[in-house]
Amino acid sequence: MKKTLLSVSLWALCANAHALTLIHAGTVVDGVSAKAVTEATVVLDGNRIQAIERGFRAPGEGDTVIDWRDGTLMPGFIDMHTHLTFQGSKDAYLEPYTLNPADVALRGVMYGKLTLNAGFTTVRDLGDAGLGSIALRNAINKGWVEGPRIFTAGTSIATTGGHADKTNGRNHELMGDPGPKEGVINGAAEAYKAVRQRYKDGSDLIKITATGGVLSVAKSGENPQFTDEELTAIVAAAKDYGFKVAVHAHGKEGMKRAILAGVNTIEHGTYMDEELFALMKKNGVALVPTLTAGEYVADKAKIDGFFPELVRPKAAKIGPKIQDTFAKAYKAGVTIAFGTDAGVFEHGKNGREFTLMVQAGMPEMAAIQSATSVAASVLGQSELGSIKAGQLADLVGVKGNPLENISLLENVQLVIKDGQRVK
Ligand SMILES: [Zn+2]
Repeated sequence: MKKTLLSVSLWALCANAHALTLIHAGTVVDGVSAKAVTEATVVLDGNRIQAIERGFRAPGEGDTVIDWRDGTLMPGFIDMHTHLTFQGSKDAYLEPYTLNPADVALRGVMYGKLTLNAGFTTVRDLGDAGLGSIALRNAINKGWVEGPRIFTAGTSIATTGGHADKTNGRNHELMGDPGPKEGVINGAAEAYKAVRQRYKDGSDLIKITATGGVLSVAKSGENPQFTDEELTAIVAAAKDYGFKVAVHAHGKEGMKRAILAGVNTIEHGTYMDEELFALMKKNGVALVPTLTAGEYVADKAKIDGFFPELVRPKAAKIGPKIQDTFAKAYKAGVTIAFGTDAGVFEHGKNGREFTLMVQAGMPEMAAIQSATSVAASVLGQSELGSIKAGQLADLVGVKGNPLENISLLENVQLVIKDGQRVK
């Protein structure tokens, strides 16, 4: 009698442990295949995808069914370029004087949640303030707060007066002389020191600003800002610590030096041309387009007083050019890894990038793959970015078919991260 009770309760425990989630999907875009599958069931077991099968499987006892028969299911989206501790605004330039690192990190929790709700279950953070993105990543991984998987560069690395030198535009007293710890280097030895400091901080990758940029309070948006020697040192140090290197770049010369030094991604890529398209392909470097940020800064440059006077002409010149360059790079066969620069514009509007990519001539399916399997591969995370057995259960859904109307991806209705439904 006792024995029977024991085996019954064990059986019940087992059955409970294997309760599955079945998603009945009208259309499945798996992130890899050239064609979508219709009327399929995606089976989730805990935080893994167990199977994808034709037709709508009937649930077993205890199974949960998500009825998505009038919608499309895709892998969770990956945004390769965000800044979760920052939000561009008219007042953003004052924040270093008014906010403490704790304020910045706590506000980042809200931006992380907005990003996740928009269907972005994984992001790279390419430059934070006060190591807030590292604290946010850790808090999300521990389950303290809800947000996307974060792979962060922590503090971005620049040269003196360069795009990510945070003291640009300050008076001499406040300017100081930041060094490798603060993300500013001059020469190969400091390059090594800065990369090692990122290792000590807990960064996942390295971000450098190889040319001038739009939002820094500095004159040029495109001049080269690292020597070959500095770039070679950064890439060599990064390899020692297993880091990939992401490179902010608008101007051609800085971009060319960085590609030749062996970096992994070029962000923005505004003045890239045929010569560089060929070089990117030859060296296996991906372009992260950030079209949404380009559109946003071009728009805001029209408003008097929105940007400081040094920034405004750069925003007006560079912003509108990014989408043209992207169109040419895609045609030339450069690998495109989806990325928006969210934080320059409002967090949670990352899906706008899909619309701008398709507007520039990229097919809908290719745009979705660039935010799923292509981004996962560039990130080096093979368990993300596709719907197939064994993968981590990160999924997003929209009602309708984004292959017919890409702007549906600006309004994602179903988000599952790590097997948990979060929206
Ligand atoms: Zn950025």
